[in-house]
Amino acid sequence: MLRESGLRVTRPRLAVLEAVHAHPHADTESIIGAVREGVPEVSHQAVYDSLHALTAAGILRRIQPAGSVARYETRVGDNHHHLVCRACGAIVDVDCAKGAAPCIHPVDAHGFAVDTAEVIYWGTCPECAAA
Ligand SMILES: [Zn+2]
Ligand SMILES: [Zn+2]
Repeated sequence: MLRESGLRVTRPRLAVLEAVHAHPHADTESIIGAVREGVPEVSHQAVYDSLHALTAAGILRRIQPAGSVARYETRVGDNHHHLVCRACGAIVDVDCAKGAAPCIHPVDAHGFAVDTAEVIYWGTCPECAAA
C-alpha cells in the first residue's frame, strides 16, 4: 500500500498502519502506545509524521467528531459514516445511507460539485443506555 502510494516504506509507517488497522478510530496517544509495543524506540514525532503522511496519501482516514481529538482508521474510500456515543465517546462504523459517495445530497448544492457527505449520527450507545 505504501509503495503504491509512492511512500517510502519505513518501520514507523508500517507500525502505525498495523496499529490503526488493529484499533479502528484510535486517537494519536493510543496509536503511539500500540506502536511502542512492537517498536519501543519510535518517537512521538515519527508517529505524528507517519499519521500525516499516511492520511495525506489516502491510506488512512482521519475523523474528528466535535469534542474529540482526531481519530484514524484504515477503512478508506467507501464514504462510510459514524455513530458516536455522547456519553462514552464510542465510535462505530455505519455504511452509507444508500449507494456510493456522496450518498446524501444537499437540498440545494449552490453550484458545488459535491463528492463526499461526512455524517455523524449522535446518540447513546447500548451500554450507556443500559447504565
Ligand atoms: Zn456510550
Ligand atoms: Zn470508521
